[in-house]
Amino acid sequence: MSKSIEELKAQATQIRRDILRMVHAVNSGHPGGSLGCVEYFTALYGKVMNYKLPFSMEGKGEDHFYLSNGHISPVFYSTLARNGFFPISELSTFRKLNSRLQGHPTTHEHLEGIRMSSGSLGQGLSVGIGVALAKKLDGDSSLVYTLHGDGELQEGQIWEALMFAAAKKVDNLISTIDYNGRQIDGDTDDVLSLGDLNAKLRAFGWEVLEEKNGNDLEAVIAVLEHAKSKTGNGKPVAIILHTEMGQGVDFMMGSHSWHGKAPNDAQLESALSQLYVETEADY
Ligand SMILES: [Mg+2]
Repeated sequence: MSKSIEELKAQATQIRRDILRMVHAVNSGHPGGSLGCVEYFTALYGKVMNYKLPFSMEGKGEDHFYLSNGHISPVFYSTLARNGFFPISELSTFRKLNSRLQGHPTTHEHLEGIRMSSGSLGQGLSVGIGVALAKKLDGDSSLVYTLHGDGELQEGQIWEALMFAAAKKVDNLISTIDYNGRQIDGDTDDVLSLGDLNAKLRAFGWEVLEEKNGNDLEAVIAVLEHAKSKTGNGKPVAIILHTEMGQGVDFMMGSHSWHGKAPNDAQLESALSQLYVETEADY
């Protein structure tokens, strides 16, 4: 966890290569949101979060992370493998029968790093709140991180959880919204607008930080560290992280169309040519 910024940037590029190769290999999966969240995951697991290896499910005295928008599992799996949770070679089993790397993360397969099954949207905030409250009961001062899609915020359970977390002063929780403005069927504003999300979260009693450069690794590290400094003050902390779906691959950016579509052979070749890295090898 003491990598330099240059090493972390190289790792981010490698994670992008992993995402594209994993999804291409089985012609199935979600590259768009995965690519957009690479800097978040790289910052969280490479710099910001305190955790121990080998992985333990209970993770007492460690920070926890819960992925609520489980369909972006490729970026989660690659990040875990690249940070030593399980063998990098296992990324080649993504979405295959009997693999521990199911399309949406599950706990049944006992994959190191996974503490919650996800895919049904809107549930991860409630889980994160529960764990955060349990840590308080245990006298455990570590933090809980969650990640959500912006389209996911259209789920009603999210707003119940937002209300609960503020009312119960769950101030050891840092929830990030991947604010890419897109979801499976189009632009979030067209499908069901979130309106002034920053104002809504504040009105619900959350401390709200906003970062416009969610694909700038140093900016993401800075906003996560800023969020850490806001914990313990009686309010849960939200980060509205502006990202670009498909970041790093020119033909995947600027549209929702790569939310859940795999690149073909020529598209993979083009994408990988845009993401050259020397420091870490492909799986
Ligand atoms: Mg989105």
